[in-house]
Amino acid sequence: MFIPNFTVRSPHVRYTEEAIEATYRYETTQVETDGATGEAVAVPTTATYHFRTGRHVGRVGLMLVGLGGNNGTTVTAAIAANRQGLSWRTKAGTQSANYLGSILMSSTVRVGADAATGEEVHTPLRAMLPMAHPNDLVIGGWDINGADLGTAMRRAAVLDVGVQVQVEEELSSIKPLPSVMYGDFIAANQASRADNLLPGDDKGAHLERIRADIRDFKSANNLDTVIVLWTANTERFADVLPGVNDTADALLASIKASHEVVSPSTLFAVASILEGCPYVNGSPQNTYVPGAVDLAVRHDVFIGGDDFKSGQTKFKSVIVDFLVQAGLRPTSIASYNHLGNNDGRNLSGPSQFRSKEISKSSVVDDVVAANELLYPRGSDGVPNAGPDHVVVIKYVPAVGDSKRALDEYSSDIFMGGTNTIVAHNTCEDSLLASPLILDLALLAELATRITYRTPEMGAHTHFHPVLSLLSYLLKAPLVPEGSPVVNALFKQRACIDNTLRACVGLPPENDMRLEQRAH
Ligand code: NAD
Repeated sequence: MFIPNFTVRSPHVRYTEEAIEATYRYETTQVETDGATGEAVAVPTTATYHFRTGRHVGRVGLMLVGLGGNNGTTVTAAIAANRQGLSWRTKAGTQSANYLGSILMSSTVRVGADAATGEEVHTPLRAMLPMAHPNDLVIGGWDINGADLGTAMRRAAVLDVGVQVQVEEELSSIKPLPSVMYGDFIAANQASRADNLLPGDDKGAHLERIRADIRDFKSANNLDTVIVLWTANTERFADVLPGVNDTADALLASIKASHEVVSPSTLFAVASILEGCPYVNGSPQNTYVPGAVDLAVRHDVFIGGDDFKSGQTKFKSVIVDFLVQAGLRPTSIASYNHLGNNDGRNLSGPSQFRSKEISKSSVVDDVVAANELLYPRGSDGVPNAGPDHVVVIKYVPAVGDSKRALDEYSSDIFMGGTNTIVAHNTCEDSLLASPLILDLALLAELATRITYRTPEMGAHTHFHPVLSLLSYLLKAPLVPEGSPVVNALFKQRACIDNTLRACVGLPPENDMRLEQRAH
């Protein structure tokens, strides 16, 4: 059974004009381990959280860094097509605009069981709480290439021509704002694209210009919230240097001094944070040097990252979880990719590839660490490194945006056997990534309206500025310092679903179904 929306009736939930307020009992388990004897005791714990979710969504803007790229143009064109309800002919029939691939727009969650029939009742994920609709997003942003978005969409060669021609006029009216390009952060092969740069090399002045761009965009479009999201090329990693970018003050001083270590993506993050706008990094580089995280915490502004989890890594974080949960021991994971779009061209730069390799490689770490039966520690106490894991990416222009990912997973099975699974994935990269951009923006906006308070706290506060709630959508999730990283996809999804449930005072989905097992 499907319900498009619902309200909650509970003594612990209150709907006012402005907000949904819920008192929620958070039940979890702590384990106490005796250091001397090794004896472990599990202790159930309960904490009370008062959640408050603002009901007024307002007007939301999304500023993309890399607006003229494959993802940027695909997001913008898809919103225009959905807004107008467009259809177009393909050789396989008529296709209509949709939001497939967006968990908010196209996936459902179980609300509960029907009181009369016991039937399962589902609702769209986006109906759990008041959220912005992608059709209402105002899109803007920057690109080092000055092509208007109509031209850039044609260059990207992602969408069917039948839809391109219908949105081209609208997209052609959008021109990316000038951006910055420093040193060798992106590959040298991108230089020919750079015809839309802010003048000079004064990073302090660039920061002020970008901040002004955000303010101008907000006021010109009468927006309540602006989200800034990096979907520009992958940069090489930036060095982390003491006194240069390890604290907020050091980083701000380094920007003023135009220090070479400050990357464009970090500059955008700093501008966004200083303007109070959530910032999401969709690429693998270490935009969030410690100074940037420090600044976000200081200003209590959300940051999220890193690197969209769209294809191969998403699959990997499911299949390895499945194997390990099945009690099988993955011993090797070999991943080959080839792609022919501009992202692939940029990744043919060795240091840009290295950023991607790092981002893709830690994806099974938490799954391995959770099972010391399969991956025992060494006698010296050093954690098992887990399966051999290699990632190869090659640039093959002829395949364009249609990325190919080939994976081989080998596992030890019962009594000395080996199981090998091979997967071959072909699909337009940007058609997987673009819906994630929308989910990231809408969830980040939602987070700005959620506050909570425990009995010990004086006032309501937001979640931690490092918004790990977004982990499902990201390959190398950024988490608050000291928190464990969760890569396993369904745990990440359960985190989103159950957090939204908590905000309306519903218990987490535990899948026990005790009521169905009664005599
Ligand atoms: P793209 O090369 O088509 O687009 C990137 C755009 O960024 C280009 O138009 C380029 O001119 C622009 N750019 C580069 N440096 C800039 C700067 N400093 N300021 C403003 N604009 C700048 O790439 P894409 O396919 O759209 O992918 C974008 C990013 O998303 C890449 O880093 C990629 O690794 C990451 N990503 C993509 C996917 C996916 O598409 N499935 C998945 C994970 C991560």
